[in-house]
Amino acid sequence: MRLAALTVAVALSVSARGDELSGADKLRLQYSNQLAWTQDGLPLVTVRVMEGRDEVVISAAGVRVLPDGEGGAEVRGGGSWTVRVQGGKPAKLKWHVVVARLKPGDEKLQDELRTWRERGEKPRTFETGALFAIKGEVLDSRRVLVAVSPRDDEAQARAAAQALAAKHGIDAGVHPELAERAAGAVEASDEKGVVVRNDGILWFAGAAGGLIELHDVDKEGGGREHRRYFGKLYVTVDRAGKLAVVNAVAEDKLLAGLVPAEMPASAPPEALKAQAVAARNELLAKLGTPHLTDPYRLCSTQHCQVYAGAGREDSRSTAAVAATRGELLLRDDGSGLVDTVYSSSCGGHGEDNDKAWGGAPDPSLRGKIDGDAATARRLSAFERIGEDNVAAFLADGLDAPPPRPYCARPKGAASSYRWHKKIDLAAAGERAQVGKPTAVEVLERGVSGRVIRLRLTGERGKAEVRGELEVRRTLGGLKSALFVLEPRSDGGQLVELTAHGGGHGHGLGMCQTGAAGMAESGASYRELLKHYYGASHLKRMY
Ligand SMILES: [Zn+2]
Ligand SMILES: [Zn+2]
Repeated sequence: MRLAALTVAVALSVSARGDELSGADKLRLQYSNQLAWTQDGLPLVTVRVMEGRDEVVISAAGVRVLPDGEGGAEVRGGGSWTVRVQGGKPAKLKWHVVVARLKPGDEKLQDELRTWRERGEKPRTFETGALFAIKGEVLDSRRVLVAVSPRDDEAQARAAAQALAAKHGIDAGVHPELAERAAGAVEASDEKGVVVRNDGILWFAGAAGGLIELHDVDKEGGGREHRRYFGKLYVTVDRAGKLAVVNAVAEDKLLAGLVPAEMPASAPPEALKAQAVAARNELLAKLGTPHLTDPYRLCSTQHCQVYAGAGREDSRSTAAVAATRGELLLRDDGSGLVDTVYSSSCGGHGEDNDKAWGGAPDPSLRGKIDGDAATARRLSAFERIGEDNVAAFLADGLDAPPPRPYCARPKGAASSYRWHKKIDLAAAGERAQVGKPTAVEVLERGVSGRVIRLRLTGERGKAEVRGELEVRRTLGGLKSALFVLEPRSDGGQLVELTAHGGGHGHGLGMCQTGAAGMAESGASYRELLKHYYGASHLKRMY
């Protein structure tokens, strides 16, 4: 009886308030790459915090259930709601093989389509990314994908992509298309037996600005815990036809949760501000691309960015987010957001993006000496680091005469600026599938001296490793690819290999230890961002 009465009340309330969006329209918004805004004028970001569940428990003092979101009907029941899905139907996806990625308006599109038609395919195009126009500035992360050979199965599409890549010498990937959205009724009941049910989605909000608790959230690295969230949660049906819980959170609250995980809150305030801007750029750049076929824009795992909800903030990081409100780093050539990547320590010299990761050179991600003009003069022999001078550069350590690079200045620099590690030869040989190594040779270095091509010769064959990350992984998780190798042989046999290295991380974009060092030397966050990201300028967008 109670359910029937409530359903009527909900329906009446919706029409009485004249909400501008129907429930179906609001559901469509979950899949949209449009940017939604809070009343405060900040982007509202949807982050999936749980998925694949049969049952979800949400609790908070004064929790409100909003079938279609704020402005529609509202139900106040007990303090704890158990949510289930009824008639959950998985989404239907089609997997396409992506054979080209172009910017919108690129004239090469017609050529690509013709080429693939001539190869007997039926090419289609898809658009990913998002287009935002804010304050007269257009932020365009869109890409046009040329896709062929659709499959119902991801593994088959990946195999087809590999075959096409090998046959035509191209970079091929896969792209999922949402052929049919997941569906089902979402039903919540409180401890007193009040039941609320809605098609596809239910929203939950805490009492005026309060936190809302979600039970049994998976932790990174195993186990579960209850977690609390700012803003609202909505429960919807995920790809698999199970329940997903999504946090719709204002950009500043989300960043306040993310920044302390990226840089210690004890870092100088100007470094924290630079980090806040970099994190904001990365956040906005990601919207509209990674989860196109999901009812949310981002996830809370390593895939997008690790986000553990409220309670991780530090007032110092939060202040840096507030002080840089709405500020984004834009490319000088008008092509949108800078890809504000960062790593812990560059070891004194940053790397070029194309050298480390492949792809086209990015004018904002050029490697150079991480120091002021006086440091660059002292180290002018190392403007470009190659096989001939990398050992000398690595010998210039924390005991070198000042002025030293920015990342050699802060107190905590010692753990990563210069390091030494003995390589587990047998394990490296296994990873490269060459057996016990007899020789390990550097074939190519980037502009910072980072190893970007490495050859392992072993008892079972040879292998070439490409890219800074693969090089580090193969040699057993080295801190960076900026190293020289010292082999020791016994009776013509390689018996020991030691890496003498510098830096921690990929070395692209901002050097976080360097940012602290530069801030300690009196630089502002604007100067920091200019130093680490070339051909760019800061603009307050909201
Ligand atoms: Zn993700
Ligand atoms: Zn550095």
